[in-house]
Amino acid sequence: MEPNFDLLRANALKASAGWKRFYAKNRKQLAKMDAEIHAYHAKFSDEIDCLSCANCCRRLGPRITEKDIEKIAKSLRMKTSAVVEKYLRKDEDDDWVFRSMPCPFLGHDDNYCAIYAHRPKACREYPHTDRKRFYQLYHLSVKNAAVCPIVYRVLNAVSEKG
Ligand code: SF4
Ligand code: SF4
Repeated sequence: MEPNFDLLRANALKASAGWKRFYAKNRKQLAKMDAEIHAYHAKFSDEIDCLSCANCCRRLGPRITEKDIEKIAKSLRMKTSAVVEKYLRKDEDDDWVFRSMPCPFLGHDDNYCAIYAHRPKACREYPHTDRKRFYQLYHLSVKNAAVCPIVYRVLNAVSEKG
């Protein structure tokens, strides 16, 4: 079932002050909690079907590296310059991002990624809740929780430990 994104956003905004307080009080403990956080990531990733969601592919523009551009070009059998011209633009930080969102490679009817095997590194790593030293991404995750139901549940579960 598709998550209710308005409700997710509202709940994440409501919870964010508590999550930040948890971080301020438990920073040292969080640095030792990767195994626990990764277990929550696995649990909630199993419970939530990304193909029924795709909110990150609709809402967040991944940063795209030169290597990503080469991989995308290869998968589409296009020149890198043509990929840049058709799909990309530079953002305010001078990084490549998709020209428009939702992502041009997101399937309208089925949420499949048309370049899944060759998708950008940032897409492969999202939502970061399985990353080593997760505490370094905690504040980014507080923002991501308004978009991603996996992150929302992970932060809720982690902060209940406080
Ligand atoms: S490239 Fe694929 S995984 Fe990345 S945002 Fe687009 S549809 Fe989503
Ligand atoms: S990573 Fe999060 S936001 Fe992206 S599709 Fe999966 S549940 Fe949705």
